[in-house]
Amino acid sequence: MRLKNKVAVVTGSARGIGKSIAEKYAAEGARIVLVDRSLEDVEKTIKEMKESYSEVYGYGMDVTDRSQVQQVFERIAKELGTVDILVNNAGITADAQMYKMTGEQWDNVINVNLTGVFNCSKEAVKIMREKEYGKIINISSVVGLYGNFGQVNYAATKSGVIGMTKTMAKELGRKNVNVNAVCPGFIATEMTEKMPEKVLTMMKEKAPLNRLGTPEDIANACLFLASEEASFVTGTVLSVDGGIVL
Ligand code: NDP
Repeated sequence: MRLKNKVAVVTGSARGIGKSIAEKYAAEGARIVLVDRSLEDVEKTIKEMKESYSEVYGYGMDVTDRSQVQQVFERIAKELGTVDILVNNAGITADAQMYKMTGEQWDNVINVNLTGVFNCSKEAVKIMREKEYGKIINISSVVGLYGNFGQVNYAATKSGVIGMTKTMAKELGRKNVNVNAVCPGFIATEMTEKMPEKVLTMMKEKAPLNRLGTPEDIANACLFLASEEASFVTGTVLSVDGGIVL
């Protein structure tokens, strides 16, 4: 029970990697707060998780909507008392080569993947600074480290998240708040289901471990970073990618 009674908020957690992180944390005793764009999806996941865990809560929240984010964090603080752990996981893609990419594709990805991290972190940090305790884990991507054809918007956000992580770690260390990033490689979720089979096979072959990752591979790394075992780890970027960046 490495996270016993810790209040952990995971964004974009109705499915995919976020859901797996929420399940991993719940299994370690955390009180889980699922947040996702669709309240209906959140309620479905709560129902599923409640079969195994009692302390599962959730809210519909769009990470790009600053006033909604503020209201939800205020509700969490009121209803659960605090926020100990925040995982900024919500993310989208809208791929196109840069010369064909529309302004809308650019703006949407920046708003969710980058501004969303700012919006949620700002609210969580208000609580964490006061309490002088907190763990923030930002889900970046290997694409933020080495770029990717057709993903100029996504790569910009995921590199940006690494810069935010290092800056936040410097600013918040004295308040006992650890801030780290995880860079998943290619993970089998609905996000990668949209990619052509040919590209996925190529990515598999490029990784020394020769497979796609699972959401649980990422959840395991997030568990370590949220636990006291990582209390001297901050500002780091942990690749969980089967070695694809080598
Ligand atoms: P999924 O698309 O499976 O899930 C993402 C979740 O985030 C969905 O539930 C989605 O809701 C939610 N979401 C999207 N936009 C918002 C928003 N504005 N506010 C709140 N929630 C939102 O993605 P993955 O699980 O695959 O990815 C999770 C994270 O991991 C992302 O940040 C992604 O960039 C990163 N990542 C994923 C990799 C992969 O290979 N899968 C590789 C590297 C990084 P909705 O259903 O409404 O869209």
